[in-house]
Amino acid sequence: MTMPGFPEGVDGFTLAQQMQAQAHRFGAETKYQQVLSVDLNAKPKKVKTAKDEYFAKALILATGAKPRSLGLPGEADLVGKGVGYCAACDGMFYRGKTVVVVGGGNTAAGDALLLSRVAEKVILVHRRDTLRATKLYHKALLDAPNVQILWNSAVTALHADQRLTGVTVKDLQTGQQQDIDCQGLFVSIGRLPNSSLAQGQLELDADGYITTDSTTQTAIEGVFAVGDVRTTPLRQVVTAVADGALAVHHAESFLSQHNN
Ligand code: NAP
Repeated sequence: MTMPGFPEGVDGFTLAQQMQAQAHRFGAETKYQQVLSVDLNAKPKKVKTAKDEYFAKALILATGAKPRSLGLPGEADLVGKGVGYCAACDGMFYRGKTVVVVGGGNTAAGDALLLSRVAEKVILVHRRDTLRATKLYHKALLDAPNVQILWNSAVTALHADQRLTGVTVKDLQTGQQQDIDCQGLFVSIGRLPNSSLAQGQLELDADGYITTDSTTQTAIEGVFAVGDVRTTPLRQVVTAVADGALAVHHAESFLSQHNN
């Protein structure tokens, strides 16, 4: 993961742990509980978890987004055993191997290029005959000697023996299927926001992300949304961290104006 201040890069887990330790040093507390529902219009706002209920005048939603999956049989069981959703996180495990990447957007194109520097062979499987990814990626992908693109194609089955051993790819125009031996499959077909808690209470955009103003304030006063769950042109750790700083600043200001 690229992050300012870490010239060698840093993995997401380590970074999150360090951020949490820093927040705890300043008095933050962490509760590990599944949130079942929130009532954002209540006064005070209510958070119901599997264990407790919490009440607050201000609330910051930082529920993130999850990768979209293909929904194939066995996919969930093979996560970490050949199936991955983040090439930047797990790509290094595929040195010298054959890897399939699914998708045609910027993530898939970036993942395929990143993996082409590590893996022996990368096969990009895209359901249409043109990439959605920005032009910048097209030539780089076509020029990479170890990247093969299968157009108008879809991965229709996974093969495994403890770990992934291959995939079936279907040509969507001819209907022909082929089995491809591979050790890795990266599903890079976009993300889904974890916004179900806010559904029916906050305004969501067409893709389900929570809309906010530039201060991260949502349509409900005292409710803020930060990071990947909010409508934003860039979803990186630095933008999420910046959102957090904005939300805390504006939540403090909200609390000082509503202090009784
Ligand atoms: P995306 O732009 O929504 O692209 C998703 C790709 O996956 C599309 O090519 C889509 O096919 C395909 N797809 C969707 N559902 C599928 C399914 N069920 N089976 C097979 N293929 C499926 O998502 P993204 O690439 O993750 O990018 C998300 C956002 O982040 C974009 O705004 C992107 O520009 C941005 N981003 C930017 C960069 C960068 O600038 N370097 C890097 C990464 C992401 P179709 O094309 O047929 O719809």
